Amino acid sequence: MTAMGEKTFQEYLCRPYCMFFKDGEKEEMACRAAGVLDTLVQRKYVDLTTIPSPIKNHDLWKKYRNALDIPLCSHCPFRAEDCDFQAEVPSDDLEPCGGFILLVHLLANDLIQKSDLE
Ligand code: SF4
Repeated sequence: MTAMGEKTFQEYLCRPYCMFFKDGEKEEMACRAAGVLDTLVQRKYVDLTTIPSPIKNHDLWKKYRNALDIPLCSHCPFRAEDCDFQAEVPSDDLEPCGGFILLVHLLANDLIQKSDLE
């Protein structure tokens, strides 16, 4: 999976935005949100080089948490053991993965539609 020229999704997405990302670990695996976002980038639905970086916004993440459970998190290989964002009672300061953060940023700014995630 590569996009944005020679940059891999780990470089343009996971390293700058994802608190779960650790260099050298699980590099061949992507969470569902990263996979969906990379597909949108490769299909040129979105150009991340022209979009202002998202700021951390817990209220915005909470607003989209239920809506993105089915299209993203329910299919995610990291949900069971690594990511608690969709836990039944998540803590207030819980942060989603970088892919979720960027996709919510794009949705909130009408740069993609929820149907683009399916
Ligand atoms: S927020 Fe967690 S469960 Fe949802 S796509 Fe990201 S890593 Fe997977």
